[in-house]
Amino acid sequence: MIVGVPKEVKRDEYRIALLPVGAEELVRAGHKVIIEKDAGIGSGLTNEQYIEAGAILVDTAEEVFSQADMILKVKEPQPEEFPLIRKGQIVFTYFHFAASLELTQGMIDSGAICLAYETLRDARGTLPLLTPMSEVAGRMSIQEGAKYLEKPQMGQGILLGGVPGVAPAHITILGGGIVGANAAKIAAGFNADVNILDINMDRLRYLDDVMPPNVNVLFSDRHVIRHQLQLADLVIGAVLIPGAKAPMLVSREDLSLMKPGSVIIDVAVDQGGCIETSKPTSHSSPTYMIDDVLHYCVANMPGAVGRTSTFALCNVTLPWALRVANQGIEKSLAQSPELQTALNVHTGRVTNKPVADTFDLPF
Ligand code: NAD
Repeated sequence: MIVGVPKEVKRDEYRIALLPVGAEELVRAGHKVIIEKDAGIGSGLTNEQYIEAGAILVDTAEEVFSQADMILKVKEPQPEEFPLIRKGQIVFTYFHFAASLELTQGMIDSGAICLAYETLRDARGTLPLLTPMSEVAGRMSIQEGAKYLEKPQMGQGILLGGVPGVAPAHITILGGGIVGANAAKIAAGFNADVNILDINMDRLRYLDDVMPPNVNVLFSDRHVIRHQLQLADLVIGAVLIPGAKAPMLVSREDLSLMKPGSVIIDVAVDQGGCIETSKPTSHSSPTYMIDDVLHYCVANMPGAVGRTSTFALCNVTLPWALRVANQGIEKSLAQSPELQTALNVHTGRVTNKPVADTFDLPF
C-alpha cells in the first residue's frame, strides 16, 4: 500500500502523524511511504530522518494525496484539502465529525473511507487514540495555570507550591478522568493543595487509593462546587459525558464567588466547555478576563507541545495504521471490531450513528 503523510495545515498545529520509526516499520512491511517536505519540522523531525527511514519526500500536499492509498493525518481535513481527497482513499486522523456539518458533507462527497482516531474503542471500552492527548492536556493545564497565576499574566501573583510559611495554591479539578487525574498528579508534585471532583464513585475510590496525600477526592455536587470556587486559585475544567456536550458546572453568576485574579483553564472547551463563560481560544491569543477571573480555553492544547504530542500520538496510532496497510481496509475492518468503531464515513455513507443523528443524515 502507498501511505501518505501531508504537512498539517490547521492553524497552530505542529504535530505530524508518523514518526521516522513508523515510516521505517511500514517500509519494512513492504509499503511505500510518501511524506510532504518539512511535515515533521514543527515536531523537531527533519526531512533527512524520514529519508533515512526509507520514506520518499515530495514537495506538495497534492503529490501526497494523489498517490497515497491511505492518508495519515493529525487534524481533520481542512476545506482546502477536501478536493485533494479521492474516492476510496483511506483517511486516518482525528475528525470530530459531530462538530462540523461542512466537514461531514465534504467527506461524504469525497467518497473517502474515514477512520477517526477519536471513536476507536478497544475491548476494555476505552478510547486509546484519544487518551494520550488527554494526558498531554491534563499535565499541560497545570503548567499553563501556574504561568497565568503570575501577576504579569494578570493572575493573583501566586506560586503554585507556596514556600515554607506561606500556603500553596488551592486547585479545584472538575472531573477526575484522564485529564483530571493527570492534572492532579502534576499539581500534587508542585506541592499545591489539590481537590478533584467527580460524580463516578468508583473513579473517586480509585483516585483516593492512588493519589498522594495533598490530593483530596470529593463528590461533585452543586454545593461542593460553589464552596470550592470560593477557595480556588486555579480551576481546571475536565469533565466529559462521552458523545454529548459538556455539562455546565459553573455559571457566570458563580464567578462572583471566585477571588479576583484567579484562573480557569477549561480543558473541556472542545466539547463546549463546563464553564458558562468559556469560549474557544487559540495559542496565539489564549486568555481573556471576565468578572476579574482569567479564562484560558485553548481547544487544541497538545498542539503547542508538538514534539511530545507527536510521539505520544504516533506510539498508539502506528499499530492500527500498520494493520490497515498490511491487511487492506475491508479485511482489517472485517477482522477487527475495534477498527469498525473508528469507521465514520465509508464511500459516501455515514457509518457512525451519533454523527448521522447529529446532522439528520441517513445511517
Ligand atoms: P474522561 O472521560 O476520562 O473523564 C471525564 C470525567 O468527567 C469522568 O470521570 C466523569 O465521571 C466526569 N464527570 C462527568 N460529569 C461530571 C460532573 N457533573 N461533575 C464532575 N465530574 C463529571 O475524559 P478526559 O479524557 O479526561 O477528557 C476531558 C475533557 O477534556 C473532554 O472534553 C476532552 O475532549 C477534553 N480534552 C481537551 C483537550 C484540549 O486541547 N482542550 C485535549 C484533550 C482532551
